[in-house]
Amino acid sequence: MKRIVILGGGESGAGAAVLAKKQGFEVFLSDLSEIKPEYKALLDKHEIAWEEKQHTEELILNADEIIKSPGIPDKAPLIKKLHSLGTPVISEIEFAGRYTKAKMICITGSNGKTTTTMLVYHILKDAGLNVGLAGNVGQSLALQVATDNFDYYVVELSSFQLDGMNEFKADIAILLNITPDHLDRYEYNFQNYVDSKFRITQNQTAEDTFIFWDNDPVIKAELAKRNIQSAMYPFALERSEKAKAFIENDELIIQTLKSLFTMPTSELALQGMHNTYNSMAAGLAASIVNVRKESIRQSLQDFQGVEHRLEYVATVRNVRYINDSKATNVNSCWYALQSMKTPVVLILGGTDKGNDYSEIEELVRDKVKALIFMGLDNAPLHAFFDGKVANIIDVQSMEDAVKAAYEAASDGDSVLLSPCCASFDLFQNYEDRGRQFKSCVRNL
Ligand code: ADP
Repeated sequence: MKRIVILGGGESGAGAAVLAKKQGFEVFLSDLSEIKPEYKALLDKHEIAWEEKQHTEELILNADEIIKSPGIPDKAPLIKKLHSLGTPVISEIEFAGRYTKAKMICITGSNGKTTTTMLVYHILKDAGLNVGLAGNVGQSLALQVATDNFDYYVVELSSFQLDGMNEFKADIAILLNITPDHLDRYEYNFQNYVDSKFRITQNQTAEDTFIFWDNDPVIKAELAKRNIQSAMYPFALERSEKAKAFIENDELIIQTLKSLFTMPTSELALQGMHNTYNSMAAGLAASIVNVRKESIRQSLQDFQGVEHRLEYVATVRNVRYINDSKATNVNSCWYALQSMKTPVVLILGGTDKGNDYSEIEELVRDKVKALIFMGLDNAPLHAFFDGKVANIIDVQSMEDAVKAAYEAASDGDSVLLSPCCASFDLFQNYEDRGRQFKSCVRNL
């Protein structure tokens, strides 16, 4: 009997184990850290052998195939050993893809994955399609393939998941953008990361669809080098001969073979330029699976957004509070500032990954009336911003940050938490940071 060993006992690993067991394989799951109780219970329920806080090599190196969590880097000693033995190492998505005939709509990019994935899912679900949500959001694809019977899956794919995929094919692939990220996992070679993102198109044929941002210089340069067979659906800010979705006179236009869709951008639930891109990509995907125009329009209009991404929290004394805690790099803060239509009090700071703030300097000078630095070490922020904004306040807790913002803001302003930094100095993670922000705002 084929032996499958799963490394990593989180959402994807536990789901893969259940599916592997259901397919009749001999299954063993191993995690170097502690496994969450809910996943242990799931494994036990399916009588799957597992271990935690260790990797017992005798039980792993004899595998016929390994399913690796995207969190484990290729340079981990155990993975290197498996590679030298020639054992195939794949991702949970690759594995799950073998056991379903559902149509796969897959989304990747450096920024905007979760938002676009949720938006596509929202449109398809509201249109009445039998659709599942998987990948980095929701339940693992493997668990759903094992237990559900969807016709479509909307799947968020990180580059790490794409790395473990060889035979899998996206029926509709969406590539939102490519900017440098995670280079520590790619030998500090940007091209390796770009190649990983382009795996979203692998195995596609002329029957399949590739939706991508046409203005992205990295994507453009890469397309010139590759011979992609898929039907091409570029989206762009302006009309062009090839753009299948674009903006003209403040209207979002989607022009596919079958139809012409128009909608004023002011009616989109997700505001801001970056979100317009996300809406174009999602609208294209929906029109390709033949969702009716009226239904697409309605869903683009009533989408609730995703927590911690430019999330509206409340208006207090005519000041809007916005939670963009997920903005853990300078590029996403740029898009957040760009979308602001009022003067802004900006809360930023945290664990600085060697940020270059010049990308947001112009927007900060234009729109920001006060900066609140919230971090254990605010020195890098001072080094860049001192002298550029009149009002700068240092704080070391969310409570103080929100208080300071409340005092600095006046009628008609917005307070924006878009920190440019990771959160680990003062918070558990970006979700914790965002939730604390919301609760402090609600206590004002
Ligand atoms: P991901 O899942 O790729 O990390 P999210 O949807 O969680 O992306 O958004 C992360 C951050 O990136 C948000 O703060 C948001 O403001 C910003 N963002 C969202 N969409 C885009 C886009 N298309 N281009 C650039 N930045 C974006």
